[in-house]
Amino acid sequence: MTLTRRDFSRLAALSAAAHFIPASTRAQSSQKKIGYAVIGLGRIAGHFIAGASATTNSQITALVSGHRPKAEKIAAQNNIPASSIYNYENFDEIAHNPAVDAVYVALPNSMHAEYTIRASKAGKHVLCEKPMATSVDDCEKMIAACKAANKKLMIAYRCHYEPTNLRAIKLIRDGSIGQVQTIQSAFGFNIAKGEWRTSKALAGGGPLYDVGIYSLNACRYLTGEEPDHIAAYASTIDHDGRFNEVEENVSWTMHFPSGVVASCSTTYGADMPGYFHVYGSKGWIQVDNAFVYEGLHLRAEASGKQLDEPNPSRDPSQFQAEAEHFSHCIQDSLEPQSPGEEGLRDMRYIAQIYKAAGINV
Ligand code: NAD
Repeated sequence: MTLTRRDFSRLAALSAAAHFIPASTRAQSSQKKIGYAVIGLGRIAGHFIAGASATTNSQITALVSGHRPKAEKIAAQNNIPASSIYNYENFDEIAHNPAVDAVYVALPNSMHAEYTIRASKAGKHVLCEKPMATSVDDCEKMIAACKAANKKLMIAYRCHYEPTNLRAIKLIRDGSIGQVQTIQSAFGFNIAKGEWRTSKALAGGGPLYDVGIYSLNACRYLTGEEPDHIAAYASTIDHDGRFNEVEENVSWTMHFPSGVVASCSTTYGADMPGYFHVYGSKGWIQVDNAFVYEGLHLRAEASGKQLDEPNPSRDPSQFQAEAEHFSHCIQDSLEPQSPGEEGLRDMRYIAQIYKAAGINV
């Protein structure tokens, strides 16, 4: 079952409330912890390992890496036996490891589909990083493979489980800023030369796949609507070898059925801290650092009051919430809040944005 936007609003309000309750006072599950194999031991994997290890219902039980010494070091730090370290060739043997219930796919974008499909065939649930894949076709294959194996698939949209983003959704749903008229959002950074993110084969495209997707997804969860018209421009300004395969900048506008118009930008050519500004007929909401791991700050004029709410949570709390949610879904047979279908929807809009910008993907 796919959650409707109304379900999301309800769930969002509930999870917002839940996340404001200190972890120690939450109901403790008596169920067995969900064991995760982490595939790809790069930057994001480190945050996830710390977050999952801080939960009461999840643990890291296996690692998959092409770098054995790195994997052995991380295994030793996390009490993972050497027999539970896999490489990309023998990965499928994970099917015989009962300590692994699920995998966390933290590889470059174009590898998400292959490892999600192989993991589901090995009988494991899948938590896959965003962007879900690099094409609509791959997203559909990933959903079909997990369905055929009767395994859950969740896309790691951290912000769906993050209190400040959930607070903004709740303020909008409660009508405290009136009818939303317009949204502005952006997220980008100045990329270093040689990153896999600038390889079309590994990344699929430029900053839109990587960080622009946060603004795209935010406009959808803030409005609770799906865009019906999209216009876009893309450009490359710096010809310094970084952008031979992918574009440097994308700006796009989305029109939603209610009439809300959202303007978004993303770049690999400038440091652009993530934010969204939502303007309604009776107030406004601004969230700075909206898409990073800590330091989020909500300011608003809502229901006639001025709000100033810095979020004190520290990394890896967002990864903890995300792992807790997926493990809870596995333990209690629930549909994740951000299932594969959510990743597929964003992939369709990404394709439309590129088409509108005149870029072939
Ligand atoms: P990274 O470069 O730090 O790590 C990638 C890992 O994949 C490395 O361990 C690398 O060894 C491995 N790998 C295997 N085959 C590779 C190949 N052919 N080329 C390059 N690396 C290869 O990247 P990252 O920042 O951890 O990003 C990994 C995924 O996580 C991406 O899909 C990215 O979009 C996503 N991500 C999500 C968030 C989030 O907050 N949800 C943040 C950062 C990255």
